[in-house]
Amino acid sequence: MSKETLISHLRNIPDYPMEGVQFKDVTSWLMNPDDMKEIVDSLYEMYKDKGITKVCGIESRGFIIGAALAYKLNAGFIPIRKPGKLPYEKVSIEYKKEYGFDRVEMHKDSINSDDVVLIHDDLLATGGTLTASYELVKKFNPKKVFINTIIELTNFHSKEKFPKECTIDSFIAIDEFDGIQ
Ligand code: AMP
Repeated sequence: MSKETLISHLRNIPDYPMEGVQFKDVTSWLMNPDDMKEIVDSLYEMYKDKGITKVCGIESRGFIIGAALAYKLNAGFIPIRKPGKLPYEKVSIEYKKEYGFDRVEMHKDSINSDDVVLIHDDLLATGGTLTASYELVKKFNPKKVFINTIIELTNFHSKEKFPKECTIDSFIAIDEFDGIQ
């Protein structure tokens, strides 16, 4: 399947969850077995030779493809969660949002210094959650960290905000407003 076909299957919801946002609704991919297979298989091809031992999925849409990818890569799956969701001892990091602060958390035993980590989320917009997740994963001192999203919204130019040593790749790069009247 071509990327153009895949993009044509991605549902866009204008003004959700607030006015001005063109929301990319990945559930239109997830409900279609061919789209789902194309995404998981393509991400697997991108990372199969990187020696990934842990895939960290960001709550909550990063859990879905992240877990499927971990299974294919024969890696463990680690959830990166919003505050108060994890039951065991945690490592956390606070980060600034447009209004106020937020926090992401991981269990304290989820990564060790031998791990090669792939952080995964569905979409890169401003990059706030992903940069915080990267800083959080770095606290565990893993051997190497890769970052991946299925979609990059190129109009945010967020890849430039990541530290230089970061290896960040997206499968599909689109402008949030492409094709929007
Ligand atoms: P950000 O921190 O701005 O890169 O985005 C945080 C999360 O919000 C991402 O993981 C996406 O799941 C979601 N998100 C942000 N903008 C959009 C959008 N335009 N369409 C769909 N999801 C979005």
